[in-house]
Amino acid sequence: MSRLPHLSSRLQGFGTTIFAEMTALAIKTGALNLGQGFPDSDGPTEVSEAAIEAIRSGVNQYPPGPGMPDLRLAIAEHQQRFYDLTVDPDTEVLVTAGATEALAAALLALCETGDEVIVFDPTYDSYKAGISLAGAVMRGVVLQPPTADEVAAGSSAWTFDPDELRRAFNPKTRLILLNTPHNPTGKVFTTEELALVAELCVEHDVIAVTDEVYEHLVFDGAHQLLATFDGMADRTVTVSSGGKTFSFTGWKIGWAMGPAPLIAAIRTAKQFLTFVNGAPFQPAIAVGLRLGDDYYDGFRNELLAKRDLLCNELADIGFATFSPEGTYFATVDVRSMGHEDGIEFCLSLPETAGVVAVPSAVFYADQRDGLPFVRFCFAKNDQMLTDATARLREAFA
Ligand code: PMP
Ligand code: GLN
Repeated sequence: MSRLPHLSSRLQGFGTTIFAEMTALAIKTGALNLGQGFPDSDGPTEVSEAAIEAIRSGVNQYPPGPGMPDLRLAIAEHQQRFYDLTVDPDTEVLVTAGATEALAAALLALCETGDEVIVFDPTYDSYKAGISLAGAVMRGVVLQPPTADEVAAGSSAWTFDPDELRRAFNPKTRLILLNTPHNPTGKVFTTEELALVAELCVEHDVIAVTDEVYEHLVFDGAHQLLATFDGMADRTVTVSSGGKTFSFTGWKIGWAMGPAPLIAAIRTAKQFLTFVNGAPFQPAIAVGLRLGDDYYDGFRNELLAKRDLLCNELADIGFATFSPEGTYFATVDVRSMGHEDGIEFCLSLPETAGVVAVPSAVFYADQRDGLPFVRFCFAKNDQMLTDATARLREAFA
């Protein structure tokens, strides 16, 4: 990869994010954008009205550094309500500029140069950059897709080798960054897998940072928090945000929760990144967090129906399709359509089919590990999903 002039060595190799690139391609070609993960409609009116009202009533100056007290309270109430977890809103919650800032601030605050950070590979793209900015070293544990037989038997679970995870822990390991439900694969980590992660964290005295931005998009069973496993309460920072849950991805209200000493450390880094953000959006996200179960159930069920619409069509066209257990992304293996390289496939897709998708290779430490995989986002209106799959059918079936 060519070096960008002026850019520090910590950021060499991190060009424009794939999401911005593919969305720009969609706009330029007029293709239907199933690439970047954002919904194509706004979230609940109560929530947007609360933001408008906040702006009108003068909630427009810097909010308090840790976040507005009522939002921190709403975050703590949400953890109690959904996970039976008691969190002190004053010392154990920090409001951030999206989950992205919470993750970056955690890495910057907690890692020394040369520390190792374990991730499951592929990862959401900001992890690699955040680890590099912190001067730390990423250590990947590869997630394997289900076999064709498993897919035929109805399983879409991606798995990892427990021994590979055990081997990844070593004296240099500072933390493990775990994303469940997982972007891009849609994997939801099982109780056994989380128990193993917890056991290894305790054994090696490692901190866990969990990214749970898709916590309300688990399609089967309940979302499980690593923080609730034995020995983890004192060593887990749980990160989430309102972007996905309330379909306001542009507002960038996120949060980190965990034991007071870890949150105090992360707050120290966070205050010099953005200091604060999104004053009028903070009370609005508090309204969202307090919505009734009907909202949360409706949101999940709506996305579940979209998942099935997209995955059934993709499979029917002939794509080997991994229907996700969570998130709003489905993965296909383009070898099923006679292609080897998902990057080339995605670059030509706007022209061949008028559709934009994201090559999963970009999420891997070594792109070759994910070359045949392509990710489609289904947080789109049904008409668009139907039109996009009709176009794919015409191009490939
Ligand atoms: N983590 C994962 C796994 C994501 O997919 C995203 C994108 N929503 C983020 C973090 C970033 O979240 P936010 O927009 O709240 O910064
Ligand atoms: N999380 C979204 C995705 O995976 C995109 C966020 C972004 O554009 N940085 O597509």
